[in-house]
Amino acid sequence: MPVWNPWHGCHRISAGCLHCYMYRRDAEFDKDSGVVNKTADFDLPLRRKRDGSPKLTNEGRVYSCMTSDFFIEEADEWRRDAWRMIGNRPDLHFVIITKRIHRFYVSLPDDWDRGYENVTVCATCENQKEALFRLPLLLDAPLAHREIICEPLLEEVDIGRFLSSGMIEKVTLGGESGPDARPLDYDWVKSVRAQCERTHTDFYFKQTGARFVKDGKTYMIDRKNQLAQARKAGIDLYF
Ligand code: SF4
Repeated sequence: MPVWNPWHGCHRISAGCLHCYMYRRDAEFDKDSGVVNKTADFDLPLRRKRDGSPKLTNEGRVYSCMTSDFFIEEADEWRRDAWRMIGNRPDLHFVIITKRIHRFYVSLPDDWDRGYENVTVCATCENQKEALFRLPLLLDAPLAHREIICEPLLEEVDIGRFLSSGMIEKVTLGGESGPDARPLDYDWVKSVRAQCERTHTDFYFKQTGARFVKDGKTYMIDRKNQLAQARKAGIDLYF
């Protein structure tokens, strides 16, 4: 999966951040995750190999800013250049997952109009409170493509009213990983799936997380099996 991390570092902003994977990984190297810096890969979309071909090639969606938040305050200036690079690579499709959709308009390029066709913005909602705050903003934002990420899902969520707008292309759902992972109840998964089915929205059960509850029983799932267990459920929807 192609990844582009133009900057690194972030600040916890909501309940879903509690066991942030980036914080856990940085801790292993004594790195301060709260300091936001541009990375050496900042201009990766523009870089070329010796033979002149682009380093970042069209091998699927480019997951962008996976060790920070694209809309974080510290990156307001850098984001102008990041958008410019994204606009210069219409052959790639950039996926931006954010907990800061409320900052979407800061540093937006002048030629944005109704949204670049090669950008999907995914708003995260881990609980009902964040769903009610973030999803209206996601629907209001001028975007060519919108998705919802419920990961780590922390409780049952009712997002049907947002899905019925017909503007959400897909919902991705998953649990939390790590030694202190909070549980993901399969009933919550089935509830979101049913909302997607009713509204003809694609649904992807990505992974179970480390602490998976089914029929009232808790299962500890090893990280290497979390994706495979979700696949086994066979409940994805594609319309
Ligand atoms: S917004 Fe994302 S990267 Fe930032 S602390 Fe929260 S989970 Fe981690």
